[in-house]
Amino acid sequence: MRKFTGDQLVVATHNKGKLEEISALLAPFGVKISSNDDHGLPEPVEDGQTFIDNARIKAHAAAKATGLPALADDSGLSVDALDGAPGIYTADWAETPNGRDFPMAMKKVEDALAAKGAEVSRKAQFNCTLVLAWPDGHDEVFPGIMPGQLVWPMRGSEGHGYDPVFQPDGYDITFGEMDRWEKNKISHRADAFAKLVSGCFE
Ligand code: IMP
Repeated sequence: MRKFTGDQLVVATHNKGKLEEISALLAPFGVKISSNDDHGLPEPVEDGQTFIDNARIKAHAAAKATGLPALADDSGLSVDALDGAPGIYTADWAETPNGRDFPMAMKKVEDALAAKGAEVSRKAQFNCTLVLAWPDGHDEVFPGIMPGQLVWPMRGSEGHGYDPVFQPDGYDITFGEMDRWEKNKISHRADAFAKLVSGCFE
């Protein structure tokens, strides 16, 4: 496993929330963080077939363009009974002409499950894959997973995205009912970050 030895890292995102979250996590390692916006980089086309493919596309595009190591993530919800859908299309399922509508997207997932019959498995997992790429083309991949069950109707108003229908294994509340601090300790993102930090930063 290659260690991160530099003092600068590009976070391959235009999303301010992700940038802040990653900056906070890497603050103890004294790394200067910049983003795609700071370097004027366009969003690459995410045409991979897996979370890993898409995180790789984003991380390598940023590393190549800046000459700096770059970190990217790709995440989503995979439902067992829907053969892993919405998967890499999780954000797309929420798209409308007026922006993203997550209550509509959660209903779409529920309708697709209901169409499979009353006895259908409600097992699902959130995935978050982090890829750290270097300008010479090397990369390290860290997949994070949070298994759980889909519930209906939606419960809770915490969090974001599909949180109100996802009940993580070992809990009787949804991510939408869980406080942010607790979720950030156990989530798919926390899992991937812990692997990244122990693999490349410690
Ligand atoms: P992306 O990785 O930014 O493309 O986002 C993938 C999509 O997955 C997001 O738009 C969210 O809808 C969903 N998602 C990823 N992680 C979470 C989570 O922790 N809670 C709820 N939804 C999530």
